[in-house]
Formats: sequence, C-alpha cells, structure tokens
Amino acid sequence: MPTNMEELKKEEKSLNFIEEIIEQDLKSGKNKSILTRFPPEPNGYLHIGHAKSICLNFGVAQKYGGKTNLRFDDTNPSTEEVEYVESIKTDLKWLGFSWANEFYASDYFDKLFEFALILIRKGLAYIDDSTAEEIASLKGTPTSPGKNNVYRSRSIEENEELFFGMKNGEFPEGSKTLRAKIDMASINMHMRDPILYRIKYANHHRTGDKWCIYPMYDFAHGQSDAIENITHSICTLEFVPHRELYNWYINKLELFPSKQYEFARLNLSYTIMSKRKLLQLVNEKHVAGWDDPRMPTLSGMRRRGYSSEAIIEFCDRIGIAKRENLIDVSLLEFCVREHLNKSAQRRMVVFDPVKVVITNWPKGKIDALTCENNPEDESAGFREIPFNGELFIEREDFMEAPPKKFFRLAVGKQVRLKSAYIITCNDIVKDSSGAIQEIHCTYVPESRSGSDTSGIKVQGTLHWVNSENSIAVQINQYDRLFKVENPSIEEGDFKNYINSESLNKVTAYAELSLLNSEVGQRFQFLRKGYYCLDKDSENKKLIFNRTVTLKDTWGQISLIDIG
Ligand code: ATP
Ligand code: MG
Repeated sequence: MPTNMEELKKEEKSLNFIEEIIEQDLKSGKNKSILTRFPPEPNGYLHIGHAKSICLNFGVAQKYGGKTNLRFDDTNPSTEEVEYVESIKTDLKWLGFSWANEFYASDYFDKLFEFALILIRKGLAYIDDSTAEEIASLKGTPTSPGKNNVYRSRSIEENEELFFGMKNGEFPEGSKTLRAKIDMASINMHMRDPILYRIKYANHHRTGDKWCIYPMYDFAHGQSDAIENITHSICTLEFVPHRELYNWYINKLELFPSKQYEFARLNLSYTIMSKRKLLQLVNEKHVAGWDDPRMPTLSGMRRRGYSSEAIIEFCDRIGIAKRENLIDVSLLEFCVREHLNKSAQRRMVVFDPVKVVITNWPKGKIDALTCENNPEDESAGFREIPFNGELFIEREDFMEAPPKKFFRLAVGKQVRLKSAYIITCNDIVKDSSGAIQEIHCTYVPESRSGSDTSGIKVQGTLHWVNSENSIAVQINQYDRLFKVENPSIEEGDFKNYINSESLNKVTAYAELSLLNSEVGQRFQFLRKGYYCLDKDSENKKLIFNRTVTLKDTWGQISLIDIG
C-alpha cells in the first residue's frame, strides 16, 4: 500500500464509470458538449457528502470542457430558507468551483404547471380526492399490486377544471392531489400513479404567496434537468428506482432527454450525513451551530481548519463507487494533514507548562532568535522570537526518574530548545506539595541554532515559549462527534451515540507572534498538531481549534463495505 500522497498520485488513474460514459457519448456524437448540475435542496448546510457530488459534477464538466449549473431544488417551501441558499453558495466558492448559471426549481413553477396540464389533457393525470391514508391503502406493497380508485376515471375536462381550482386556492390543504395515471400494478412502486402536485398554503422563499400548489420533487427534478438541457444528470443510488418515472415524464412531455446516472453516497465513519439529523443536532444544541467544528458540514470543517484542497483531494482519492460503503474518517484526516504539512506555518505553544530557568543567562539580555516558518516551504520565510532565559516547556518533557530511552529533559541530561540553544539540566525546585516548580538549567552559548559550533549531539528537541513574553490562549481540542463508527445503523436514537467528550477546552501558552494571526489561519503547533484561529477569538482572548493531530494514522484506514 502506498504510504504517502506523492506515491498515491503517481498511481495510474483510470477513468471512473461516469467519465467512461461521457467519453463514449462525446465520441459517438450523442453529445457535443457536457452540461452537468449540482442540485441541492436549500434545507440545510452542505456536508462532506455534498462535496463528493460537487467534485464529481464540476470535475467531469471541467475535464471535458463542459459546464455545470447550480440549481436549488426548492420545491418544499416549509423547509427551505434563504440562509441555506447563501451558505451553499459560500461553500461552493470556498471549494473553488464556479457555476455557469444559478437556477431554482421554483423558476420553473409556471412551466411545471404547464407540463401538468399537458399530462391532464393527454389523459395521463387525474385529480384525486383521497386522503393520504386512502392513497397509501390502495398503493399495494412491493409484492402485491395496488388498486385503481374511483377518481382515476374522471374526465379530462373535470380534471382540468379541478386543477385550476387547486391552483386558485378553492380547496383546503390535503383535500386533493394531482396524480399521474401510469400503472397501479407496476413492479416499481414509484410508477403506481405518483403524486405530481399537492396543495400547500405556505410562503415560498422566492415565489412568496403566488402558489398554493407545489410540485413534488420527482415531478420537478427530471423536468428541471430537461429544461436546462442537462446532458448527464448525476445523482446518488437511492434515485435508481426514480429513473423510470423521470424517463416517463420526459417521454410523455417530449422534453430534452437528460440521462440520469447514479453513484454511491459518501458515508464517513463516526459521523452522520443526513441534513435532517444534522438539523436536530443544531436545534437541540448538541453542537454550537451548523458550523460547529465537529460537524461534517463544509462550514464546520472550514472552521475547524480543513482546507478545501484537502477535501478535494479526499473526494478524488475515494473515487466513485456503485456500492454503498463507509469511508474511514482517518483517510480524510490524512489528506488534511498532508496539505497542512506543506502549507501551515509552524508556531510554538506549550499546553501544560513547567518553568525552566537558565541560570547562566546574562541578566537582562534578550536574544532575537530566527525561526523558520515552515521547513516544507522556503517561501514561508522566518520570524523572530525573543529569548530571555526564562521559559516554559511541557511538563511531560521532563522526568525525575526517566527510563532509558527518554530523550527529553532530566537532571544531568541535555536537549536542544527548538531554534535556540542546547541546555543541560542541573537541578529542580519543588513546592511544598512536592510538585516541580522550576527546572534549573545552563545553556551552551556556542550552540545557538544556525551557528552551532559546540559539536554537541543531542537526541531531543523541545518546543518552548518565554514565560513572560507569551500569551495565554484557549484551545478547543475536538474529538469525534460520535462514539460509534456508524451511528446511522445503531439501534434507537442516533443521539444516544454522541461522544460527550468531543470538546475539551484548555488553556495554553503561545508565542507572541500568534497575536498577528487571522481568523481561519492554520498553523502547526510544533509537536502538538494542526490548529486554526477561531472566529470567536477576540483581541485579548485567542481561541484555536484543533484541526487534526500530528500523528499519521494511515495504517488504520479501511473501507468497510455495507452495501
Ligand atoms: P441529505 O440526505 O443529507 O438531506 P440530500 O440528498 O437530501 O441529502 P440534496 O440537497 O438533495 O441533499 O443533495 C444535493 C446533491 O448532493 C444530490 O445530487 C445528492 O444526491 C448529493 N448528495 C447528498 N448527500 C450525498 C452524499 N452523502 N454523498 C454523495 N452525494 C450526496
Ligand atoms: Mg435530496
């Protein structure tokens, strides 16, 4: 198995099945150019699963010189909001994709109404006065056919008149529906006279109170694709049984023949992907909002410090599957780490400080040390850190009775302070409770990093901060949001599996240069992990979110087949 991204990239990339289809369609002349669409319902924020669909739709269009529309599938006025529309656009831009057109299914409400009239006039749709229960009771089961009801034989004239009545608000909500007249005995349940329109006295975020009837998603989706001349309509596997119905509409209405292709949804371990469930987490305050850094939403991941490059790389790596599976979140973390290793500047932050006093440091002397910002990126340059002989190191970097292979600090041992000097530990001072209060060391003046002539070899390098010239910052240590790998399939309420320890707030001591960081800026805190400045930070109180730990867990990555 390849062990790093470079090796992975070198692997020959074969075409995914969608690309194969597109290449054939271009070659055979079936399509002259490619037009795809990304069709979110604006009823929540985008999550990493949507990123998969975005990368696929925009990716194949880009690859073959085509274009991609952004279409908001806004046929359900009660769950849709402008806030969601705006967040979706923000996330798409953040990922770096630009759409050819911004459309809304609600732009097509007039056309869809016309389409419904066409079906009525062709004798292919009827007004049904049944209640939802009555409709369900005649629907049959997957193994037994459904039954026709009395409304199915209404005349075309009566259907047309009633449909206008529905549109004009003459009937109460739930009292009538418009249904396609297809086949109540079809083996495909979706073909058993599906509902086209329902009455809903709801205000729509774009059309206001113009309509009191709204098309069903299935009646809007395929036709919207056809209206826009979408060549390849890519969606997830749960829509396979809907394809027959979309094709029926397109065929009966004689519209542009968009073709639907399905791929497997992305499922990620230790989280959930359903917007309905994510909304519950937000509403019931299990998280701080849609952009809580623990959420699988793009806004949450962005706030946590994930880069768009890493997310795109991840989507690319997992490829396009035809069977459902659960992707190990550590693969995503691997991609995040890989990108941050190259792009994030290094800083020093001490989480659990113990004081070190350099006893031979000249009183009052302040040395300006030069620190490399990123050893992986020369262009990141250098920064200066003052050094005055009194500092903090991590408590765990010192041991009174160290085991043999402890290469950090202990009495009589030497270590290098990162970008500074080699120090030797001479003795320790304890308080009345026996806890270590100060560690006394001497430094080797000739060992200054960058001009070391001491000839001393040490095995350990420690990060540190000045005890006075440093700032206390809040660190949000995030962990997985759920305790179990696949909360969606566990018994009972998915919220029973929330990890109550997914956020641990601690105080740490940071080098002063972090005062200049900007919200969203990502850093590697040396030997600690990757962190990102949170938007709730204030001048006096900086908050950093842990993006991901330093440790590479590639070895644990697995693909769990649940298909
Ligand atoms: P959810 O179940 O989270 O509400 P949805 O499918 O209802 O998701 P839409 O807004 O309708 O959400 O999705 C927009 C597009 O993104 C659709 O084409 C859908 O198939 C795709 N998509 C949604 N979730 C995933 C996922 N987990 N993996 C891949 N594609 C997805
Ligand atoms: Mg949907």
